[in-house]
Amino acid sequence: MPRPPTAITTRTWMNAHVRVLNATYEDFDLVPAARAVVLLVEDLALTLVEHSPRFVVRSQHVAIPLPRTIQLFEYVHTPPRPTIDDDTRASFAGVLARDHYRCAYCGVAGATTVDHVYPRSRGGNNSWSNLVACCLTCNNAKSDQTPEESGMPLLWVPRTPRTDRKRQHTIWRELTPHL
Ligand SMILES: [Zn+2]
Repeated sequence: MPRPPTAITTRTWMNAHVRVLNATYEDFDLVPAARAVVLLVEDLALTLVEHSPRFVVRSQHVAIPLPRTIQLFEYVHTPPRPTIDDDTRASFAGVLARDHYRCAYCGVAGATTVDHVYPRSRGGNNSWSNLVACCLTCNNAKSDQTPEESGMPLLWVPRTPRTDRKRQHTIWRELTPHL
């Protein structure tokens, strides 16, 4: 339930809810603040937006600003698609996030485009293994050639984002306590 931006106290912070985004920035869930804090403490998510007004959750070992929105570090599959294979369509944002916004051809940081390794104009698909983050310069230089043809070898092999079962399990436990 959306709440008015009233000041949070040590008694009320647990009543707050936190928006959870998947690693691909897609909206994933709304969870009680305590569960969001666990995800942060377990290093499974990062804070995108802090709660306003600011409130720091303190325990014996941690002091964490209460978030309003957090993002999972790893892609968590939604229930209708329990597995993801290499043929699954990858999202633009997902590919950039997977490659940490680094160009797969020259390694420069801040890549803003996604390149089809095997050109789309020649039948290349939108799978995780055929898409890489790419800077505008390299994207233009490569055009509709393969890496071999353009003389621009990939710096790494693009793969479907790996998921660590234990981490996924922990995330699911915090997101869906009723399961
Ligand atoms: Zn580049």
